[in-house]
Amino acid sequence: MMNTEQLVSQAKSIQPWIVGLRRQLHQHPELMYEEFETSKLVQSTLDELGIEYQKDIAVTGVLGTIGNGEGPCVALRADMDALPIHEEADVEFRSEIDGKMHACGHDCHTAMLLGAARLLKENEDLIQGTVKLIFQPAEEGGAGGEKMSEEGVLENPQVERIFGLHVSAELPTGMLAARAGTLMAAAGSLKIIVKGKGGHAAMPHLAIDPVTTAAKIVVELQTIISRELDPLESGVISVTMIHGGEAYNVIPPSIEIQGTIRSLTLDGLKHLQTRVSEIAMAIAQGNRCEADISFPGHDYPPTLNDEVCWEAGKESVEQVLGVGKVLEMPPVMGGEDFAYYTQRVPGCFAFLGIGNPDVGATYSVHHPKFKVDEDALPYGAAIHVNCALNSLNDLR
Ligand SMILES: [Zn+2]
Ligand SMILES: [Zn+2]
Repeated sequence: MMNTEQLVSQAKSIQPWIVGLRRQLHQHPELMYEEFETSKLVQSTLDELGIEYQKDIAVTGVLGTIGNGEGPCVALRADMDALPIHEEADVEFRSEIDGKMHACGHDCHTAMLLGAARLLKENEDLIQGTVKLIFQPAEEGGAGGEKMSEEGVLENPQVERIFGLHVSAELPTGMLAARAGTLMAAAGSLKIIVKGKGGHAAMPHLAIDPVTTAAKIVVELQTIISRELDPLESGVISVTMIHGGEAYNVIPPSIEIQGTIRSLTLDGLKHLQTRVSEIAMAIAQGNRCEADISFPGHDYPPTLNDEVCWEAGKESVEQVLGVGKVLEMPPVMGGEDFAYYTQRVPGCFAFLGIGNPDVGATYSVHHPKFKVDEDALPYGAAIHVNCALNSLNDLR
């Protein structure tokens, strides 16, 4: 067994190395399934460390393997993709690519897992089994986790537990939060094209107006959650985009509505989708319009934390951060493709605090001014390692 104090001080001693990797990634953000340079950096770092890996899994994914190959197998996961956001944070290592930014902290996740790789390599003799290091593409809507799973990263040897971390500015550095059971929501998108008949705005009777019809649909969708859902259940329908029209005096032929639907279960998500379809269709018909309704992209399943993994993870985290530094939190309606792993094997996903007003780390993920307290990164690396080593020990 490893002395955790020693592990934490080892992690802190490589902080500049982890931060260096993170900043390199931060300057070169890549969107889903285009993480080619990111993947190369992961590969060359694993090469330097002497860790074996497979590459080009799910396009840019990398699977590192370390350990003695005997006994149980535990996986640690990081996502590598950035977002189509133009960075506004005042950091010297700002994104060099206009319109792309690591605003969800996946640069931190990748750097922390590389930190864990280095710590594991330095303590290889303590690994009683196999640790898989999963670097995946396309968490932001591309279901990279599903593709990685389908390409077999959880098999040969079979992963018995998987752990993942997500940075959170809502938590101060030195804290972690998660829960047993459902942590994050099932999430999907909605798209409705309301088709009428365009015409002169002064003669609405000669046209079929999709604008008023679209407005009615947007308003009516609100009552699915407020009037139909059990108040003790959770659901979200947010319309986030409405597009249509080019001129003030022209009734446009169609209006496009997009948004997101969330529930804590896949069945709940399906039910909300059915009701969105029924309501949009009925309102369109009642107003002489047509509605094309679809739910494009991937429906992410809910992220379910296994009870045993959560308890084991919590203990491992407390050894790193200290007793009282792990919070039980209620579920959140965000989606996360770590869910595809926990659909297949027991696992635990948790939020790691990177919030610190002193360094301006107060903006939430997906904000153009999102910033990270990099002092949290060695904690993330140490947490990964401690969860893996303790779990291998439990599973033997
Ligand atoms: Zn995100
Ligand atoms: Zn994220």
